[in-house]
Order: sequence, then C-alpha cells, then structure tokens
Amino acid sequence: MATAYDHMPFTDIRRSADDNAQGVLDSFWDGKLPIDPVKIALDMGVEVYTAQLGDEVYGMISGTPSEAKIYLDVDQAPVRMRFTCAHEIGHYIERSSRTTADDSEYAEIDVRSGRDHGKPIEVFANHFAGALLMPKEVVEKFHTKGMNVYAMASKFNVSVQAMSLRKMHLGLS
Ligand SMILES: [Zn+2]
Repeated sequence: MATAYDHMPFTDIRRSADDNAQGVLDSFWDGKLPIDPVKIALDMGVEVYTAQLGDEVYGMISGTPSEAKIYLDVDQAPVRMRFTCAHEIGHYIERSSRTTADDSEYAEIDVRSGRDHGKPIEVFANHFAGALLMPKEVVEKFHTKGMNVYAMASKFNVSVQAMSLRKMHLGLS
C-alpha cells in the first residue's frame, strides 16, 4: 500500500519519524525511564497482546485506525520486544495519519528475515521506535555527562546496537 514515505529521501523520513515520536512523547510520556511503549500504546487506545507468532514474525499490527491491535511474539528478548512494540506504534501513527475518513482494515507484519529492510515505511517505523524509546533531549543530556553507550542502553532498556544507531543518527559518537 502506498504511503507518504515511498518516494521520500531517508533523511526526510527520519526527520518525520523524529517529529512524530516527539509528538507522542509530549502527549503520552510520564517522563520516567525506561519508557514503556506498551503503556503508551494502551494510552493511545491501541490494544497490545503477546502471542506465539511463529519463527518468522517479530510483531504485527492489525485492525483499523480506530481499533488497532498490536501483537508481539513472546519468543524475543525483552529489549527486542520493547523495540518491536515501539515499531508497531510507528506503523499505527503512519496509518492513522493518512486520512481520518479511511478506517479500513489493514495489517503490517514484521518478519525476522529482514525481507522488508530498507522499505521506506520500515525505515520510518524503525527510526520512530528509536526516537520514542530514546528521546533526543535525554540522549544528548546523557552524552554531555559523558555516559557511555552501555550505560545509556541500560538506562533506556534498549539493545546496545539500537543505542549506537540512535547516537549515530543524532550525530553523537
Ligand atoms: Zn514494520
């Protein structure tokens, strides 16, 4: 399905993801770390379930913009599950932002294979997830204090890989 991001340069996609994540944080984050993406999803009116989704699937979101459900595969590390949940919120934001009149059924399924790696909408959802779990201003504050990537990853309860990527995108290394 076509999205606003299909023909957008990745830098613009990431900027949009940052803006959208900041908007969600402004409305739904209680200011505590680590950020709880399940609580944020629930507060946004999205139901969240864990389930056996099989060997191929990390997570998915399905339903309609007004009645969406996130499913997270139980067989993934807690940090990975948190990231997957935040990623699915990114899909929810994108789908809900298209038009209020379109409440048709949809589903986004995220697979382990990396089949969809580099797809614009996945670039958006991944960057959104990083920006939601690792808010720019907090990462910058920790960086200024001299905190290393391991300590930061622990504070945000994300993988070291996700933390490194977020720092790179923020120009902090
Ligand atoms: Zn996705």
